[in-house]
Amino acid sequence: MQGLRILITGGAGFLGSHLCDRLVAQGADVLCLDNFFTGAKRNIRHLIDNHNFELIRHDIVQPMFLEVDQIYNLACPASPVHYQYNPVKTVKTNVMGAINMLGLAKRVKARILQASTSEIYGSPQEHPQTETYWGHVNPIGLRSCYDEGKRVAETLMMDYHRQNQVDIRLVRIFNTYGPRMAISDGRVVSNFVVQALRNEPITIYGDGSQTRSFCYVSDMIDAFIKMMNNEDFIGPVNLGNPTEFSIKQLAELVVESTQSKSQITYKPLPQDDPIQRRPDITLAKEKLNWEPQVELKEGLHKAVDYFREFIA
Ligand code: NAD
Ligand code: UDP
Repeated sequence: MQGLRILITGGAGFLGSHLCDRLVAQGADVLCLDNFFTGAKRNIRHLIDNHNFELIRHDIVQPMFLEVDQIYNLACPASPVHYQYNPVKTVKTNVMGAINMLGLAKRVKARILQASTSEIYGSPQEHPQTETYWGHVNPIGLRSCYDEGKRVAETLMMDYHRQNQVDIRLVRIFNTYGPRMAISDGRVVSNFVVQALRNEPITIYGDGSQTRSFCYVSDMIDAFIKMMNNEDFIGPVNLGNPTEFSIKQLAELVVESTQSKSQITYKPLPQDDPIQRRPDITLAKEKLNWEPQVELKEGLHKAVDYFREFIA
């Protein structure tokens, strides 16, 4: 990594800030770009004085001219609450942002990794999901700005690759959690942990039988770096933890690990909320020699320790 100039868009967000930490520690010259919509300076403040780290306030909807060797394109709000706040902007970030970053990669011959998502499978009718599944996505619903935006970003990646020989890497990230998720992020792990630590009701949407598979952040960062530095596999590849939990089970685990007095309360299930989701990670194991190491219980403890600091 020594001497490589690496651009991380969305670098002040949850995943981006952990990636900045890891790459700076490995001796890379890291450019962290963010518009601070859901990211925070707090996440990268400890890196500011490091001479291998540079922070740029910029929105990827606008073009950017830089000289870099690698680009991790992570910029995009990931929580349904935030990506639905301004859905038109979410589409622009995914589509115009991808065009701008791919244009940059093309111009400077950088390798570019796109943070795609399990959402491209929509509410899947195949279970678990393999990379060959084309998905089951509502094109006009409340989640479409994100799901379809990310699908077009994948299309753009493949077309820049075929048409302009851009060196791409495509990862489909399944639900990932850990320290530095924003307290108001709105995703399920941070919501439940914050509610439990405050002894407030834990809000299960629907009856809690819908499933997700939760990957701890350090495992995901390992996979990003392995994928970026793999010489001959462009993806797409599923990255996530294949152990599946219902949302009700997650709520119970959170109550247990926080020793909370919280009760569970049920709220309506949001539109198009996927009923089940679990990655098939056979391809990641084979091509990247990667699989998650951190179990949910252990990862939850680390997340709880982080959130405890904010909740006095
Ligand atoms: P996050 O919201 O914490 O981080 C996103 C970052 O992008 C924030 O710092 C935000 O300010 C920045 N950003 C948003 N729009 C931007 C724009 N137009 N220009 C510049 N910066 C912008 O979310 P995260 O969980 O860290 O997700 C990072 C990436 O990984 C996203 O692309 C997301 O879609 C993808 N992803 C994450 C998960 C997950 O479970 N964490 C799952 C699937 C995909
Ligand atoms: N969820 C919930 N309570 C919350 C937040 C989310 O029951 O306070 C549910 C949500 O309806 C979904 C699952 O938890 O079924 C995961 O939601 P999240 O927003 O974390 O991510 P998604 O996988 O839906 O993008």
